[in-house]
Amino acid sequence: MKMKIGVSTLLYEKEDIVTSVARIAESGVKTIELFCELAGFHPGKVTDETLDALASLAKDYGLTYSIHPPCKEINPASSDPSERARVIEEYIETIDLAIRLGIRDMVVHCGFKSNPDVSDGDAFDYARQTLKAVGKAAEQAGIVMLLENTCWGTTGFLDTPQDLLHLADACPPSTKLLLDVGHAIIWGFNPTECARIWFPRLAQIHAHDNHGEHDEHLELGKGIIDWRELLCFLKAESWDGVFMIEMGQQEDSDAALVRSLDLVRTCLSRC
Ligand SMILES: [Zn+2]
Repeated sequence: MKMKIGVSTLLYEKEDIVTSVARIAESGVKTIELFCELAGFHPGKVTDETLDALASLAKDYGLTYSIHPPCKEINPASSDPSERARVIEEYIETIDLAIRLGIRDMVVHCGFKSNPDVSDGDAFDYARQTLKAVGKAAEQAGIVMLLENTCWGTTGFLDTPQDLLHLADACPPSTKLLLDVGHAIIWGFNPTECARIWFPRLAQIHAHDNHGEHDEHLELGKGIIDWRELLCFLKAESWDGVFMIEMGQQEDSDAALVRSLDLVRTCLSRC
């Protein structure tokens, strides 16, 4: 099996970044997403002590990190040029943090316009300008930029999975795609169909469940997503990317993680 199973630190989002990583590492998972919304991990403000602690956890447990920049109030497709400049700055600070931790990929969110009155074409153009600049900085640092599908509702400006491909085509050539399974369902698309369309560029998956309406970030199997269909497709195609479990903090996160990992392994063993 070439596919790697990872877990995002969002699972312990109420903890600080070092505690969250340590708890995931204890479960035996080797690929971990560092989420910049966790305490102690805002780009530009991370202390040397935190960096040292993350580096020694990586060494002790043989971990590989991915990085997720801040995403609250960060909109690459904003109609406001000063807002877009701030987004580029935040992403570049995240790239600097990634360099210090030897991280090789960084996800970016793009898909919402400032308000429903902005035309889809204008929003696409704003996103393209922002992501071109960020993608160039990432490429120079040897970091792969991953475009994630975050687009639904009245402010979504990407109507189909093909539209995300077009946006990726407008970014530097090393740009890859990240399929967020929960977001695909809310967007109204079958995640396996998205994986098929994006396959040549598909580098990572965000796996969390929901009921088709809200971005609940539930434990796998607690919503309406057909995990078996997706996992069997990835297995049949010998996909070699990272399947990153990205659920939010649960009532009992330790148990939810065990059950989710179990669900993934069971699905894969029955393909
Ligand atoms: Zn995601």
